[in-house]
Formats: sequence, structure tokens, C-alpha cells
Amino acid sequence: MDLFEHQAKEIFAAYDVPVPTGRIATTPEEARAIADELTGKVVVKAQVKAGGRGKAGGVKVAGDGAEAEQHAKAILGMDIKGLTVHKVLVEQASDIAEEYYASFLLDRSNRTFLAMCSSEGGMEIEEIAVSRPEMLARIAIDPLVGVDRATARSIAEQGHLPEQALDGAAELLEKLWTVFVKEDATLVEVNPLILTGDGKVVALDGKVTLDDNADFRHDSHAALADKGAVDPLEQLAKEKGLNYVKLEGNVGIIGNGAGLVMSTLDVVTYAGEEFGGAKPANFLDIGGGASAQVMADGLSVILGDPSVKSVFVNIFGGITSCDAVANGIVQALAMLEGSASKPLVVRLDGNNVEEGRRILAEADLPVVHLEDTMDGAARRAAELAQKAV
Ligand code: GDP
Ligand code: MN
Repeated sequence: MDLFEHQAKEIFAAYDVPVPTGRIATTPEEARAIADELTGKVVVKAQVKAGGRGKAGGVKVAGDGAEAEQHAKAILGMDIKGLTVHKVLVEQASDIAEEYYASFLLDRSNRTFLAMCSSEGGMEIEEIAVSRPEMLARIAIDPLVGVDRATARSIAEQGHLPEQALDGAAELLEKLWTVFVKEDATLVEVNPLILTGDGKVVALDGKVTLDDNADFRHDSHAALADKGAVDPLEQLAKEKGLNYVKLEGNVGIIGNGAGLVMSTLDVVTYAGEEFGGAKPANFLDIGGGASAQVMADGLSVILGDPSVKSVFVNIFGGITSCDAVANGIVQALAMLEGSASKPLVVRLDGNNVEEGRRILAEADLPVVHLEDTMDGAARRAAELAQKAV
């Protein structure tokens, strides 16, 4: 999960990383009130999960409350890279002497963590990496050793930060590493990291990506989710503990095992070329041990998607045998009662397949179409989706 700048800064502040004082406003009047309270110059900043807000006109310095209100009026509702601005951060303006760049991230390709630092801050990091790569230090961080003050100082030195910024940057980077570790982030980025006129080093911007797989040990993270932006079906699936991703098509997909589901998406897309461009409507892996409840949960999420016209249930019986899955489907349809009226194409293979097919044939459910092969089932599901239009 990516955080808004203001959320990132609230976390930074909790770990004593220096950030400007500020608060969130959702109306121009609120922005004015915050600016009046802060006194002096303020900066009004669009809160959208995208970089380049400054260039897009989403970051404006105001001399007083009245001006802050004007800026907020212009920025709220603005479109930045396809995202609508619903809130602005109003914070004490900073006296910027210099702008730097610093980040910690998970370096998947090298299976470790990486610190990046540069004296060339403010612009987008991709630009620095291309235009002046020698100015962007990349330093591998051993997770067992971490980042102490001396390592932090060395990172700042390698990023060519000037002497007068080194102490402040070292202190900030050490704390930023603590944020990264304690909050289970995969990215913390500060761009720009600034040196102020009076020699302080401050995080002027903040970008944080949290590792959703670690949510279970952070009760506080749930409150950070941007509810308005989450797809309601994905939200429902998450609440039910399902591994679901919404896609654009009309054929609902359920399978067991991520690999099988991925290849199911491919065969349905291929089959769809013949049937009006039918395409997968989602990814849903119900995993091993698919109980009737999990099948019912999965089906209810998929059937709740109005663009779904048919569903392809593709199961390879392994640890959970086909008869258990077949019973699961029968029970799931009973649980969903009348709400499961869209055609369900079922392909079962693997452990105890004969018994599984017998159970489904015997149940004689009008919505269920049993197919022997994955390709045949994909074609059938695509055909039924096309017919339903
Ligand atoms: P981004 O463009 O989305 O990365 O937004 P930033 O938060 O990085 O802000 C963009 C630029 O606005 C910064 O690089 C600064 O140059 C400028 N800026 C942000 N806050 C202040 C401030 O308090 N005072 C001044 N003078 N400029 C600011
Ligand atoms: Mn920035």
C-alpha cells in the first residue's frame, strides 16, 4: 500500500524524523484556518499518490491565510496524472537552501535492501539516474547489520551531500531506516530532503510503501487505507481473505493455485478471440484446501461483479481432491441460493476426478456446465459470456 505524503510525514514525525508542521484540509476555508494558525508563509500541497505535483501546479507557497485559501481553491479538484485532488496539506513553508534525495527500498533483484542518496534532489529520481548517474549513490544495506549513525553518515557522504548537511542527514537517515524496518515498508523516499537556511536537514516530501504482507503485525496500518480508492469487490475479497484481483473482462475465474489461475487467464483470453472478445473478469486463487465456504465466498465476490457474464471454475485436485471440490461447489451454490444464476463452467481434473464429476452430474444443477478439458471449458465459458450480452 502506497501512502499519501501527509500519512508518510505523520509516520516520520512519530519516529522523530524532522518534517514541517502541517495539517490536512478538504476545503479552502479549512486551508485558510490552518494557515492562520500556523502564521507566516505556508505551502499548500495537493495530496495524490503521484509524484511531480510541483510541476503540475499542485504545490504552492502562500504568504497568508487568504492566499492559502485561494491556492487550496485552485488545487482541490485538480487532476494530477489522472488522480483527483480531494485534500491538501497545509504546512509551514520552509526556507530551502538546498534540495537532496534519499531513500531506502527493498532491492528484489539483489535480494537485499538498498539505500540511495544524492545531492541532486527535487527532480524525479529517474531523471537523476539517467542524467547524472554518478551523482546517485546506491548502497546495499545488510538487513542483519542495518543502518547506524556511521553508516547513515557514509550514505550521505557517498551521495555527495555537502559537509554542512552531513550531521543532520546522518541523524535523519538513521531514523528513516528505523521507520523502514519498524513499519515494514518496502520503500521510504524523501525527495527533496532539504537543508534549510539555518542549517537544519528536514524531510520536505515523503513517499512510503508499506508491505501489505506484514499488515497482520500493524493494527495501525488498516486505518491508512484510502477507502474511496479501493475497488469495492477487491475490498470484499480482502475481508474474506481471498486472493482476488479485479480485471476488465466478462468471464469470472476461480482456480486453485496461482500458476493454474494465471494460465486460465491466458486460455480464456485466447478462446475469447473467437467469442466476441470475451476476457477474464478477475484473478482469483482459492488455494489448496478449498472448502465449500471458500468456494461460496469466491463465487459471491465474482457474481457480485455486474460485468461477469459467465464463470469458469478451473480446479486441479491435489491435496484437496476433486470430490471435495465438487461437494464444495454444490454446497456453495446452495449457500448462495438464487443469487447464483450466471452459468458456471466447471473443469475438474486430478485426484479423484471421476468421483468429483459424478457428484456434480448427480446434483444436476442447471447453472453448472461440466467440461473435461481446460481449453474446452475456456471456450465454453467465453461462448456463454458472449451469448449473455
Ligand atoms: P512533488 O513534486 O510531488 O515531488 O512534491 P514535493 O513535495 O517534492 O514538492 C515539489 C517542490 O515544491 C519541492 O521540490 C520544492 O522545491 C517546492 N516546495 C515544497 N515545499 C516547499 C516550501 O515549504 N517552500 C518552498 N519555497 N518550496 C517548497
Ligand atoms: Mn517530491
